[in-house]
Amino acid sequence: MSIVFIGLGSNLGERLSMLQKAIACISELPTTEVLATSSVYESPPIDNSAQNHFLNAVCKIRTKLPPKALLDALKEIERRLGRPERYARWSPRYIDLDILFYDNQVLNQDGLTIPHSEIQNRKFVLLPMLELDDYFHPVLKKHLSTLLAETNDASPVLKTKISIALQQEN
Ligand code: AMP
Repeated sequence: MSIVFIGLGSNLGERLSMLQKAIACISELPTTEVLATSSVYESPPIDNSAQNHFLNAVCKIRTKLPPKALLDALKEIERRLGRPERYARWSPRYIDLDILFYDNQVLNQDGLTIPHSEIQNRKFVLLPMLELDDYFHPVLKKHLSTLLAETNDASPVLKTKISIALQQEN
């Protein structure tokens, strides 16, 4: 069994419902269990301020799916929740699912980079992820709390009072 952290983001449609549906779909994947979900954060779009703000969260799962199979399963969930096959970079999206960490594996193959290459540049990932674990980044060799202190992301990322109902603690 592996422990994996997944970043979720939505800025189109019923954003909270998108996050909830995505987590419900993740919990239904074979050999997969959602262990915890972070609070929901609100963040401005990275490069296009005309868009809606994003709701972001991170969930922690336990799974037997190997990294590529998990990525394919997450892409299938994105498609099911209304994401078109191709997006312009930084365009609005119903749901975006990223594998942040997969145990402490380091991978760069099959279009998959683990840990996700942008973790240290995104407060909307660092803040919710830190609620779950001050993880040690196996490439940058720093804890997330250090990466947060050092990040160049100055965007206002707000913790909301919204909670994702489907929260399971094991
Ligand atoms: P995005 O539009 O940001 O969701 O990027 C999607 C693409 O990034 C996917 O087609 C993946 O092949 C690639 N990718 C590389 N590393 C990761 C990762 N750790 N998690 C999710 N997608 C990844």
